[in-house]
Amino acid sequence: MRILLYRADGNTAPWVKDFADLMPEAEVVVWREGAHLPTCDYAVLWTPPQAMLAELARVKAIFLTGAGADAIMKYSHAIPPHIPIVRLNDAGMGIQMAEYVTHAVLRYFRRLDEYETQARSGAWLQLEAREKADFSVGVMGVGALGSHVIEALRPFGFPLRAWSRSPKSLDGVDSFHGEAGLDGFLGSSRVVVCMLPLTEETTHILNRPNMMKMPQGSYIINVGRGAHISEPDLLPLIKSGHIAGATLDVFRNEPLPAQHPFWMEPRITITPHISALTLRRESVEQMAAKMRQHARGEEVADVINRTKGY
Ligand code: NAP
Repeated sequence: MRILLYRADGNTAPWVKDFADLMPEAEVVVWREGAHLPTCDYAVLWTPPQAMLAELARVKAIFLTGAGADAIMKYSHAIPPHIPIVRLNDAGMGIQMAEYVTHAVLRYFRRLDEYETQARSGAWLQLEAREKADFSVGVMGVGALGSHVIEALRPFGFPLRAWSRSPKSLDGVDSFHGEAGLDGFLGSSRVVVCMLPLTEETTHILNRPNMMKMPQGSYIINVGRGAHISEPDLLPLIKSGHIAGATLDVFRNEPLPAQHPFWMEPRITITPHISALTLRRESVEQMAAKMRQHARGEEVADVINRTKGY
């Protein structure tokens, strides 16, 4: 078995080593533009360079080093439909998302963002404590990662909401689905956590009209993709207080440009796309298992549905 590996950062050595450890039967070929490459069975990558597309059309399956498929979907026209594109399922990202989102929700619930601001001006002032009943948390996208976040939030006793494409039945969670369920979900979520995949349908889902449906003084936590939020719509809603705060890990343009107005807004907390990093060892382990399944002619899970886009 031969695996074609591409890393935009050029840091291929640790990946080659992990494949050698966990899949000794496989030979890893590092993709280099213009190099004469032997025929490969599988490709491992995130976003392919244009020059790699012809090679990708010849492999038996493509394995993504991330959970989302948006980065490769823009090249899907060049990848014949019979070639499965397989994403990572959790692979250590679920627990990271749970840590990040739980921290952000608790920070807002316990008003720690306000206490941080007060402390900087030397103010000793106890603010009114919030009621859990008034602090419902709604998770948009309850797949591999979103469901992990719901479970992590459960012990704190917040009223929980979920919104997905298909109906879900989650114990103790008010579940909404589809376009018809969106208004009810937004209207009843004091905190909206976006954990959706980026598709045509979900691009700018958090635009002004939808954010206006959230209760006054709501919070947004975006760990999906930057383009889920209409960035120019968010700022005025923060300034007006309709949105009391936002914790954003992802942005339309990354790195977030130095002149972007979000940097100047204290009610926006910015992190550099770190909410759930790809863990190499766990990822290689998962990919190796799936490659072996595929090689045996078995069905492989987590193949991107190209019509749905995730
Ligand atoms: P997943 O298992 O495919 O789950 C996606 C969820 O979104 C599902 O519940 C799905 O509904 C729902 N959904 C998709 N389209 C929808 C629509 N149009 N309307 C309503 N719900 C919709 O994906 P995952 O592994 O949890 O990952 C989710 C996303 O997290 C990734 O796509 C990626 O963009 C993002 N991510 C970010 C980071 C980071 O560091 N910031 C790291 C990893 C992943 P159904 O259940 O009905 O299909």
